[in-house]
Amino acid sequence: MKTFSLLAILIAVFILNISNATFSNGNSISSDSNYIEQADPSVTAEYCPVSGEKIEGSGVVFNYLDTKVKFCCEGCEKSFKKNPSKYLKAGVIDPVCGMTETNSEITTVNDGVKYYFCSESCKNKFEKDPTVVLEKYNK
Ligand SMILES: [Zn+2]
Ligand SMILES: [Zn+2]
Repeated sequence: MKTFSLLAILIAVFILNISNATFSNGNSISSDSNYIEQADPSVTAEYCPVSGEKIEGSGVVFNYLDTKVKFCCEGCEKSFKKNPSKYLKAGVIDPVCGMTETNSEITTVNDGVKYYFCSESCKNKFEKDPTVVLEKYNK
């Protein structure tokens, strides 16, 4: 009787080990496929910087100086133009000198789009003739 229960325990432990091994195996496979699923959208899908929504189809594209920005709708594009620095994580450039260190206090609005400058002198140059300054970005 004693030997039998010991054997039963041994068998139980053996079975547990097998199911454990299967379980951890299955686990590693599923975490592998999870990794692929997570990595995929970041390559193909695009998200609106304003709403954070996934952009379906071609979306609405606006070229802000040297940066091409894509939105889910025209409403988001409008919000962006009013406050580009809020949505451009990499920072906004001074359209006159090209510096990335712009002063959020020195700005101007041209054609509904806000621009940022490093100094008052760059801002003055821009306001003298915005078309000439913006021309080099319209290629
Ligand atoms: Zn939108
Ligand atoms: Zn400047």
